[in-house]
Amino acid sequence: MDRRIAIIGAGPAGLTAALELKKRGFHNVTIFGKFSDAQLRTMQVDGIAFDVAACLLHFGYQSTVIPLVRKMGLTVNYIDTPADIVDRRLRPIKKSTSQVVEIYLNILYYLFFFVGWLLLHRTRWRKAYSSSMEAFLKRRGLSTLAESFAMGPGGIAQGYGFLDEVTAYHAMRWFRPRLFLTPLLSKYKLGVATISEGYETLFTAIIEQFQCTERNIKSVRPSLGKIELIDEEDNRLVFDEVIIACPLDRIQFPHRYLFNEESIDESYIFSYLFTSAIVPPFADRAYLDEYIRTKQKNKALVIRTGGQTNSGDYLYWAVGYKTKDITKEELQDKIEDQLIEECGLPIKQLHFFEFFRYNLRFSSSAVRRGLPQQLESLQGHQKIWYSGGLVSHWDISSIYEHNRRIINKLHFRNRPKSLFSALNYLIHAVLSWLRLL
Ligand SMILES: Cc1cc2nc3c(=O)[nH]c(=O)nc-3n(C[C@H](O)[C@H](O)[C@H](O)COP(=O)(O)OP(=O)(O)OC[C@H]3O[C@@H](n4cnc5c(N)ncnc54)[C@H](O)[C@@H]3O)c2cc1C
Repeated sequence: MDRRIAIIGAGPAGLTAALELKKRGFHNVTIFGKFSDAQLRTMQVDGIAFDVAACLLHFGYQSTVIPLVRKMGLTVNYIDTPADIVDRRLRPIKKSTSQVVEIYLNILYYLFFFVGWLLLHRTRWRKAYSSSMEAFLKRRGLSTLAESFAMGPGGIAQGYGFLDEVTAYHAMRWFRPRLFLTPLLSKYKLGVATISEGYETLFTAIIEQFQCTERNIKSVRPSLGKIELIDEEDNRLVFDEVIIACPLDRIQFPHRYLFNEESIDESYIFSYLFTSAIVPPFADRAYLDEYIRTKQKNKALVIRTGGQTNSGDYLYWAVGYKTKDITKEELQDKIEDQLIEECGLPIKQLHFFEFFRYNLRFSSSAVRRGLPQQLESLQGHQKIWYSGGLVSHWDISSIYEHNRRIINKLHFRNRPKSLFSALNYLIHAVLSWLRLL
């Protein structure tokens, strides 16, 4: 199919959209944006590849990211999480039957969240889902679930924000059938994994298959049945369809009027990669659960180890939420104190220290106004499609699943209609709506 399609954004959303379009036979695809601006960064330290932004794969990625990693000839490296969690005094907790049972109990909790997720699309539920996840559970007498939700397999609190900040709408969107079916169905490994060569390698391999241009796009507007893109230098570029896969507050588009200043919330996260001469006081990964429970910012919430470098030092990565106004110097002092005093980890060399805008999400007022549903109903209207962490969920698997759904629709609209194509569309639509594809 020779329709000219523009993708705005060269992050996981834009690149997985491009892959999905290619799979459906669209070859005239141009990607705009800088891959180096995406939230993916792999550092090479003394021969070790270490992801300092998007990094972990968990069992929910079985149908999306993991097959992609294998297809690109890269390897998945399993981190045996249950054995690696440490207790509050940083003693490794041994893997035992009771922990495995606990994980399966957590999966039952997921079932509860999944039912909630199914109800998400019902308008009259909007108000309830606009409150914070913590308030949502409290109101239903389910406060105890909050802890499991925050500390459960996959370390949701670290990845998905403190539960008193994130709306129930966003927190629940993460749950889908795949999440609880996988452990029951497969040779799945409990816990999480990384891409041995790094996330960046995966996405660089995808970029090489497409036409990419590092230009930023200012606005998108329909014009005589086509779509016009205006770049930073006011050049006009004309396409047949466009997928907006960059943060929606970074661009002008016809439905932008639906947003107001308070429509979008975000968190800020820091990522800190360092070496230390000290043997890891814990195994591969540690949740400093006290800080997560007490919702502390400007503290390392998770510390992962990356092995031993050629010079004999140990590589570590620390990540946590930060307040908006703290400077790099102030935060560095705080983290160093924490690492030395509480974890016994003096820093030998700092390799990477960066802040990220993270967890872009619809605010409580936007959820109450039904903005996510409105945007969803506008998918494909005037040949403009919306993708990215804000409209799906902010993990890479959810983003890819969302792309499969919108591109199924885009494909159906652009192919000759027949009973076969209608059936094909329906099957894909149902499976991808259930997020089983
Ligand atoms: C520290 C950290 C750890 C994380 N860990 C994980 C993890 O373990 N697992 C996981 O699944 N996810 C993780 N994430 C989240 C994941 O990285 C993001 O959800 C994902 O990158 C979002 O993808 P995106 O394509 O929507 O946006 P981004 O990655 O932010 O990419 C946006 C793209 O849009 C482009 N752009 C912006 N404005 C314009 C414009 N006007 N015109 C053209 N292009 C534009 C940028 O150049 C960029 O290429 C992590 C994130 C961070 C920061």
